[in-house]
Amino acid sequence: MGDDKMKTYKGKSVYKGIAMGNVIVLKDRDLQIKRYKIEDTASEIGRVSRAGETAKEQLQRLYDKALKEVGEANAAIFEVHQMMLEDEDYLESIQKMIQTELVNAEYAVAVTGDNFSQMFASMDDDYMKARAADVTDISNRLVKILQGQEEVDFSSMEPSIIVADDLSPSETVQMDKDKILAFVTVHGSTNSHTAILARMMNIPALVGVPMELQEIHTGMEAVVDGFQGEVIFEPSGEICVQTRKKIEEEQEKAQLLQTLKGKETITLDGHKINLYANIANVKDVGYVLENDAGGIGLFRSEFLYLGRKSFPTEEEQFQAYKQVAQMMAGKKVIIRTLDIGADKQADYFNLGHEDNPAMGYRAIRICLKQPEIFKTQLRALLRAAVFGNLSIMYPMITSVEEVQQIYGIVKEVQEELDRIQIPYKIPEQGIMIETPAAVMISDELAEMVDFFSIGTNDLTQYTLAVDRQNAKLDDFYQPHHKAVLKMIQMVVDNAHKCGKWAGICGELGADLELTETFVKMGVDELSVAPSMILKIRKRIREIKI
Ligand code: PEP
Ligand code: MG
Repeated sequence: MGDDKMKTYKGKSVYKGIAMGNVIVLKDRDLQIKRYKIEDTASEIGRVSRAGETAKEQLQRLYDKALKEVGEANAAIFEVHQMMLEDEDYLESIQKMIQTELVNAEYAVAVTGDNFSQMFASMDDDYMKARAADVTDISNRLVKILQGQEEVDFSSMEPSIIVADDLSPSETVQMDKDKILAFVTVHGSTNSHTAILARMMNIPALVGVPMELQEIHTGMEAVVDGFQGEVIFEPSGEICVQTRKKIEEEQEKAQLLQTLKGKETITLDGHKINLYANIANVKDVGYVLENDAGGIGLFRSEFLYLGRKSFPTEEEQFQAYKQVAQMMAGKKVIIRTLDIGADKQADYFNLGHEDNPAMGYRAIRICLKQPEIFKTQLRALLRAAVFGNLSIMYPMITSVEEVQQIYGIVKEVQEELDRIQIPYKIPEQGIMIETPAAVMISDELAEMVDFFSIGTNDLTQYTLAVDRQNAKLDDFYQPHHKAVLKMIQMVVDNAHKCGKWAGICGELGADLELTETFVKMGVDELSVAPSMILKIRKRIREIKI
């Protein structure tokens, strides 16, 4: 039975799960202000004054929340903003512009905001200078309201389906898993880190969905079906009933998998595989334990650097690594040193624009060029190693010389810690094999390191010359390509020749179609999203080599 309001869109599924609930639309968050001609100036001025009232209500809510959480002194800024919204000069200037230039409210607010902000910035008085940022802030708030962008308070929202044009990894990582039922985005590739985070968080997600965001509103109901790669807005009663049934079936399957907890990850003929989990944050350790992973095979430490305004200190990092090591209580925890760059950007690194960021200044290259950043992380890691079974892994390696340089820096850090008599341990050190160069010299690299972990996400991108971020190339991004599989075999064989182990920590490691192939290739470890652990254990227990 059809339903007039119902709208169905197809997209690319990132995580196979089903969700149903209310939508929160994050409209285009880069303020793009268009200028257009209007005729009815009174109605345009009316829009500004209504937006002003809404802004004041938002600010009052922020004030009340801040008062409770951070005290009166810090909350005062929201009161100042409310007052500024009533400033006669500011409001008159907007009105005049609408009346004389016959322009739309958004444009008049943005231009007036810029003018006032520049005026404040050029004043001598420090207090007045600081008001420049506040004017920009209130103008942006007004423009967003005029454009119909709702403000989302993630801390107090009901669990919802997030609908957006696109999401960056730093935005995604700040979201609270318990508040998100699903992600649906217009853009984004299935191999991006946002997609990886969705998988990690066990959240149904669709990317590349050709939705008209103007037609979708916060509060609408929706169904996201990651199996069908489909999102349905305003679903009919019949769809809702079917969806509830599917959700129940999924829950039953998950329940069945629970019986595999505590069991070994072993083939029918007794070959054991180390089945570890990938995480991005300390709080993900909960999912690792919940899904009974044998360890952590990839802690993407760069997420500690994202979504903030300055570098995490040595102490902050030490506490994070120590906590993970302690929570895992003797199980292996492999922490990858920061792999910032490409799609994982933090402004304070000042990486600047690059034409080819995936092949650019990223990961170990930053660490070797800016050793102070690297040393802070290494000090935190070496100190945390005392508290558990920790290993370090270096990303984006392409040469023997890079590994030698890394060891040189580790030695310097070790000497510093000796000098100031701080307890530390030199843990196992391994490398990611995610460039074709590293594969081709894996015989030499195997002699230098304790282990290999194959990063199939980047290895596929660099081997096939397909940008993993480019959604248009999703069909060309073929991790099953013979070239990639042959490389995996080569790496495993070279590791074994030197008595070292080799695992896979890229997304391919969780591909159930290849589990048997990997086991037969001799892969020693698979590190996957926590939600995949029990499914892979089930598969491995059915295999005979
Ligand atoms: C990889 O490249 O396969 C990998 C595990 O690292 P990331 O996805 O974080 O680049
Ligand atoms: Mg990688």
